[in-house]
Amino acid sequence: MRFGRITHPLFREHDPGRGHPERPERIGAAEQAFRKAAPLFDVVARAARPAELAELQRVHTQGLIDHVLSFRGRRGSIDADTHISPASVDAALLAAGSAIDLARMIMSGEADTGFLFARPPGHHAERAQTMGFCLFNNIAAASAALLEEGLAKRIAIYDWDVHHGNGVQDIFYADPRVLFISSHQSPLYPGTGAEEETGEGPGAGYNLNLPLSPGSHDGDFAAAVSRAVVPAIRKFAPDIILIPAGFDAHAADPLAQLEFTERGFAHAAGLLKSLAGECCGGRIGFILEGGYDLKALRDSIGAVLKTMAGGAIPDAAGFPAASHSTNLMIARQRSRFNLDGA
Ligand SMILES: [Zn+2]
Repeated sequence: MRFGRITHPLFREHDPGRGHPERPERIGAAEQAFRKAAPLFDVVARAARPAELAELQRVHTQGLIDHVLSFRGRRGSIDADTHISPASVDAALLAAGSAIDLARMIMSGEADTGFLFARPPGHHAERAQTMGFCLFNNIAAASAALLEEGLAKRIAIYDWDVHHGNGVQDIFYADPRVLFISSHQSPLYPGTGAEEETGEGPGAGYNLNLPLSPGSHDGDFAAAVSRAVVPAIRKFAPDIILIPAGFDAHAADPLAQLEFTERGFAHAAGLLKSLAGECCGGRIGFILEGGYDLKALRDSIGAVLKTMAGGAIPDAAGFPAASHSTNLMIARQRSRFNLDGA
């Protein structure tokens, strides 16, 4: 399996400051997992390059872009919870450019899959507003590049970060070319992601939220993926599946109260990998979002990479049964999105 690989030293230089959970050491943990898994893949490496202005303008307002660029080379706070160091804006430009290039590599067949370990993350950045440690929306920029350049007609994005992917939802809310799915803890930051947020205008029916109660575990995760995410993506029939992959739903994570484990993430990756094989030529790419416990981050990425390389998929029969509230939520969304029979 050919693995698209793009990295840059600046992904470790972005420093929100002492004690901040979104810290440079996260890249070290991810890279450790990658080094261990790399021999399982045929690695196709490409140099990172900054996103161009036109690529950012597809997903962000000029106001947001100018605001972020005004911080280039400086230390400061871009918004209430997004703090930066002198290298941060250049790191953000490289993260967005790398996300675009990884998606292009997979779409063109240069790589079968890939996982971008870049910082700062992106899924909270809305069209006009940075937030939640995110400057530019990396996965949205990658998706928009494929669509606008005619490389893909339909893209499915499944965000399993513990926080709702409000930025991706905001950017594609009225766009029927992107099916956006998010499973996340609710209630939790940023407060969006209700079941009833289903898209608008031509995008109505292309935004699927799967809010999970605090304490939800691998059994709830597996139920949401197998009974909602997989049938929704299968029905949508995308050209590629992109995963904003955060690992802050792990039981050890300090920022949230879900109880997923590395086995749950590997199981989800396995289901999505076989779905990609069935619906879109095996094309699936991952981009790192959150995940703030370094060991959980390293072990979870390692488990996902092993599964992607062809390792055994953990059996969901070993997971605790999904809760009543999760089953009811899935049933409501299956009905709302006409997935019964899909
Ligand atoms: Zn998160």
